[in-house]
Amino acid sequence: VAVTSTAIVHAGQLVTNDETRGGDLLGSVRDGAVVFEAGRVQWVGESAQLPQGAGDTLVDAEGRCVLPGFVDSHSHLVFAGDRVTDFVASTTGASYEPAGIRSTVRATRSAPTETLAAGARRLRHEALRSGTTTMETKSGYGLTTPDEVRGCAVASDVFDDATFLGAHVVPEEFDDDSDAYVALVTGEMLAACSELVRFVDVFCERGAFDEDQARAVLRAGAAVGLHGKVHANQLEEGPGVLVAVEEGALTADHCTYLSGHDVDLLASGTTVATLLPITEFATRTAHADGRRLLDAGARVALATNCNPGSSYSTSMPLAIALAVRHQGLTPDQAIAAATKGGAAALGRDDVGVLRVGARADVVVLEAPSPAYLAYRPGVELVARIFKDGVDVGASH
Ligand SMILES: [Zn+2]
Repeated sequence: VAVTSTAIVHAGQLVTNDETRGGDLLGSVRDGAVVFEAGRVQWVGESAQLPQGAGDTLVDAEGRCVLPGFVDSHSHLVFAGDRVTDFVASTTGASYEPAGIRSTVRATRSAPTETLAAGARRLRHEALRSGTTTMETKSGYGLTTPDEVRGCAVASDVFDDATFLGAHVVPEEFDDDSDAYVALVTGEMLAACSELVRFVDVFCERGAFDEDQARAVLRAGAAVGLHGKVHANQLEEGPGVLVAVEEGALTADHCTYLSGHDVDLLASGTTVATLLPITEFATRTAHADGRRLLDAGARVALATNCNPGSSYSTSMPLAIALAVRHQGLTPDQAIAAATKGGAAALGRDDVGVLRVGARADVVVLEAPSPAYLAYRPGVELVARIFKDGVDVGASH
């Protein structure tokens, strides 16, 4: 079987995210070229240096920007129904409450698995069309052992990485005894789900799970080899970031309300701070201060948090535009956070970067530089997408 290779040439700016190249934050190459074969990058450099005969298929970018596909490290896309009624109510003053998750739980429990899978596939495809080549999603709308197994199975079938989020909210049948629910999550439910996922996540917030419960969930997950993630400090200052860092979690996500101590913890540790600005946009709340985190030296990722309650968008370009407009990131910082930052948030080094051996996940923009993603919000600038080296076509 003939293996065909593809060479994309004449990228006005080729974003590699390869630190060893030096230069700007994005490891940019002017008039760059990238060659890939069998789903992996084989060569990266200046078009003028392209090896003789490279690329059975030649794509001339004609000065457009070429960059790694986006890595969306945080979403919740195994669900049924939607919450458009809650959203419309919020436009006349109702505020976002975690309890709203329960209405999605009711709809999800009563839906056939094929309905959940079809919805997940539709949203995964929607995300791909806006340039997301790696995407994580979570369970968390089942909250019984069989329903969480179903959620984790669909998540791992349809997405690149899957997370067990049995500790999303306390389901109504455990209203009087949240500790009994945590015992279920860390016991039977985790045991049934752990083989299907790479990560365990917990919503550590007033109205969801407290500090001790969050630690218990992370420790139980770590004991069966799962990396930890925490929904932290979304609605107010609280123990989420502290718990994430002290328990060695891979990420603390949201980080909207941080104390100075929280910022110091993130700056001095390895836990990645994941910013989710579409949530703050959609729920009309204050934005996380990404500038403060970056200035302190924290590692930052950018993700959609796509879910039917608080952030129903799969668009990484929208997240980039909002992070620049509202969270103090420069366009280059936002692009880095949406690519290699997302990879760090998933503990991966094979995506979010264009260097030899990395996955051939490549996006061509209808623009000369990635800054246009923030400069021209709401415009479909992702012109062409390759996932695992396969041309999946135009975005629109
Ligand atoms: Zn979330």
